[in-house]
Parts: sequence; C-alpha cells; structure tokens
Amino acid sequence: VTSARPERLAGPSREVPAALLDALRAACTTHVDDALLDAHSRDWWPLALAWAHRGMTARRPAAVAEPASTEEVRAVARLCHAHRVPLTVAGGRSGVLGAAIPARGGVVLSTRALRGVVGVDAESGLVEVLAGTMGPELEDAVAPHGLVVGHHPQSFSLSTVGGWIGARGAGQYSTRVGTIAALVAGLEVVLADGTLLRLGPEPASAAGPDLASLFVGAEGTLGIVTRAWLRARPLPAARAGAAWRLPSLAAGIGAMRAALRAGATPAVLRLYDERETRRAHGGDGTWCALLVHDEAAPELVDATLAVVARCARAEGAESADPRLVDAWFAHRDDVSGLHALTARGWVIDTLEVAAPWARLAAVADGVRTAIAAVPGARSATVHVSHSYVDGACAYFTFVGDPGDGDRGHGDPGIGDLGALEALHGAMWEAGQGAALRAGATLSHHHGIGLHRARWAPEALGASLGTLAAIKRTLDPHGILNPGKWIPGDDA
Ligand SMILES: Cc1cc2nc3c(=O)[nH]c(=O)nc-3n(C[C@H](O)[C@H](O)[C@H](O)COP(=O)(O)OP(=O)(O)OC[C@H]3O[C@@H](n4cnc5c(N)ncnc54)[C@H](O)[C@@H]3O)c2cc1C
Repeated sequence: VTSARPERLAGPSREVPAALLDALRAACTTHVDDALLDAHSRDWWPLALAWAHRGMTARRPAAVAEPASTEEVRAVARLCHAHRVPLTVAGGRSGVLGAAIPARGGVVLSTRALRGVVGVDAESGLVEVLAGTMGPELEDAVAPHGLVVGHHPQSFSLSTVGGWIGARGAGQYSTRVGTIAALVAGLEVVLADGTLLRLGPEPASAAGPDLASLFVGAEGTLGIVTRAWLRARPLPAARAGAAWRLPSLAAGIGAMRAALRAGATPAVLRLYDERETRRAHGGDGTWCALLVHDEAAPELVDATLAVVARCARAEGAESADPRLVDAWFAHRDDVSGLHALTARGWVIDTLEVAAPWARLAAVADGVRTAIAAVPGARSATVHVSHSYVDGACAYFTFVGDPGDGDRGHGDPGIGDLGALEALHGAMWEAGQGAALRAGATLSHHHGIGLHRARWAPEALGASLGTLAAIKRTLDPHGILNPGKWIPGDDA
C-alpha cells in the first residue's frame, strides 16, 4: 500500500502481505481506504498535527482492523503474530505524544467497535466495560445505577477506556478518585499470540504481584486490553467550591501540600502561576489562583473545604470570587484555542511531570526558566493539579513562534516546517531536561509515546531492561506497537 501523502517518520515500515490482508478481512471488519489509513497515521501529538496541516502523514498503516469482540481481537493478534507484522492498538487517538501512531507501519487495531458497558455490579460499585468505550458513553450507562466512575480527562469525549489504561492517564477529579491506575479493579488482556488473560477483578489481593498493573501504562506494547472492570462510587450528594488568591506559586504549593498532608482530598485542587491566572482567571499578574471543588457526602465536602481554607490562609491567601470555579467548569474541556495556534504555524504544547512536594517549586521554576530561554519562546507557564500525599503534578504549557513569514494565513506551507520542528524540539529538550535534572518524573499522565522515547533510558534506568525482558517473553516477535520506547522491540 502506498500513500500519496509523504510520510514524515524515519525508520523502516513493514508491508502487509496480501495473504494477511485476506485473512484479516475474513477475521473481522478491515479497512484499507486512504482517508481512514491517513487518520490512523496520527493522534494529537502536535508534530503529527503540524504534519497533517501540511498534507503529510507521520506513518501510515497498511490496514485498520476493527474487531467487534475479544475473539476477533485474538484472531487479529494471532494472524499478525504468525506473519510477524506490527500491530498497533488505537483507541480515540487523543494521545499527545504519538503513542498510537504505527511507527513501523503494519496493522492498526482500532477498538472503535469494541464498546459498551457490559454490566454493573451496583452493590460493589464495579463496572465491566469494553475497551473502546468513550467517557460520556461510560458515565451515561453507569449513572442510572446511582454511580459515577469519575475519570474525567480534558479529552473525556475523545478518548477510550483502553487509551486511559494504555497511557495511565489522570482525570480532573484524580485528587479524590485517583488516576486510572487506582480505578482499575481488573482487566481482560489479549497477548501478542492471542493468549487471553483475565486479571481480577478484585478489591485487593496478596496472591502474588499485581499483573494487571503491568498493562496499565504499557501503551499497547505488552498486550491489548479488551475489557476492564472499573471502580465506581455513589453519585455525589453534595458539591461545593471556593477560590483563593495566593501571593506566590510557592505559597500555593505550600497550601496544597498542607491540605493533602492533613488528609483532605478535594476532587479538584488547581493552582495557577501568575501568568496563567491572568490569562484564565482575570488576575493582574501579581497573584496565583487556587481553585478547590469537592463532590462527595456533604460532611466530607464541608470538612475538605474547611481544611483547604485553613491551609490556604496559613500561606497568606485571601478569598477570591468563587465564580472562578464555575468559570473553570464551563471551559475546562475547551481546546479551540489550541487548534487556532496550531493552524497558524505556532508551536503550542504541554509537558506534565510529577515531583515530590520537596522539589515541586524547584521543578516549576526550573522548567519555566529553561523553556523561556529558548530563542523563539513566547511563553512558558505552569499550573499544579493532581495532588497526592507526597507530591503533585506540574503541568506546563508553552508557546513558541518559529518566526517564519507564513503564519497568520491559516495555511502554513512546508517551508516553515523545519523551523517549527526545530523550535518544538528545542523547547522540549530544555523543559524535559530541566524537569529530570530537578528530580521530576518523565511524565505524570500523558505517557511516553514516540516523542518522549529519547528520555526513557535516562528516566527509567535499569528498569527499562527489565521491561524489555518482559516484553520479549510476552511478545517474542515484537509485534505490539514497535518503534517506541521499549528497546529491541522492532518486528
Ligand atoms: C485536548 C486533550 C486533553 C487531554 N487531557 C488529558 C487529561 O486531562 N488527562 C489525561 O490523562 N490525558 C489527557 N489527554 C491525553 C489523552 O487523551 C489520554 O492519553 C487518553 O488516555 C488517550 O486515550 P485514547 O483512547 O485516545 O488512546 P490513544 O491515543 O488511541 O492511545 C494511547 C495509547 O494507549 C494505547 N492503547 C489504546 N487502547 C488500548 C487498548 N485497548 N489496550 C492497550 N493499549 C491501548 C495505544 O496503543 C497508545 O499507546 C488529553 C489529550 C487531548 C487531545
């Protein structure tokens, strides 16, 4: 199969033999039309979007298989395993690091037809759901049982249960419900050779290591998640929020830390630096907004907001207009501004890491300073969200102007692409490097994918070798999502 659109990714691409294509067609719905192959050559990785704007693809698959059952997934895996052809699973393709792009070509397994809530155990609060189910479909099916799962990434309506698990994501309520890792009670997984694993569900277990967790964050490299059992809790009886003005980012971090250390876990607790506060919350650039919102049993909500208020005041906070919380809810999933900047040929991207409280302020300062020092950088800002008893996520947003003469016309040409790629690379190099040097993790919830693969050896150290050994055992021909960050996995 050849694409009329030039491919931008380097490295080998595997053809799919005609015999495999015929066998795939017999096994399940299989697409080879250009538009669908092009769509499956990209996710929301800003470089892939920039290439798509210029009529290019990252790397096209030769076919998109769309199994509608676990048995059909097993058949697809067995066939690709037998032919030693790459098989990359794609959910909503809302990942922002190229994780779902078939870097070595071959076959994409779309989970689009593998959707729906299979069952709800309302007494235990356990939801059995197929991997291709998207956020709204999941919660709409669970709500009539008086339950909510509560995993709400900004990409809620773009992403799937399998993608949440594959990328080990975190939703906006994670400070109360945990990241997706805490919500997974069990998994059904198909291995590269078609072997079927059922892991759990169980509330807890001491019967050996937790094998299900091996597939959480594996980005489709170790197995294909076909079904999950997710934990759900009763729909909240009370909701309340408050907003605070903090004199500095460090003071805000101090307040968040104290609240978490005191046992408060508000559903939403978000701190914005001065610049993001001015941009999004009407600040004048001299203070930082801290938004808190909780939803749970009324006593818990009252107690949580009281603890946060005490901790904020102890750091010099003053009360701010509580409508800031309502405004955040009204706009929290709006990404239209992002598209506008991408279409103008600007660099806009985000970088999220986790760090212990003791290092969080240094990480926030170090990363912003490093990115802002890159020639062409227009802004580098941070907010702190997703808090834990021992630390939190620092989420950076950065914008750069490659300085070409083309921007502003909504139709950037190929001429500016080198400058855009170079600036994007330099800003990442500065930011991710500074984060790792300051003691942060490689990622908090976006994962590694294609884009962060180059930092995996530095960030993961010897554990990367252990993961590679596990990969060789589970996927001896290296067919699952090859060309990414686990070494030696190329089919
Ligand atoms: C506007 C926007 C906002 C976002 N906000 C958030 C946020 O708040 N929190 C957050 O965590 N992320 C966020 N993301 C990133 C992205 O939405 C998440 O990573 C999401 O979990 C990906 O789900 P998906 O279904 O789109 O997966 P894809 O992008 O299709 O795939 C992601 C990875 O998971 C693997 N995968 C997919 N399905 C399976 C499966 N069934 N079995 C095994 N592996 C699988 C893929 O191979 C790939 O490696 C955002 C993205 C966008 C574009």
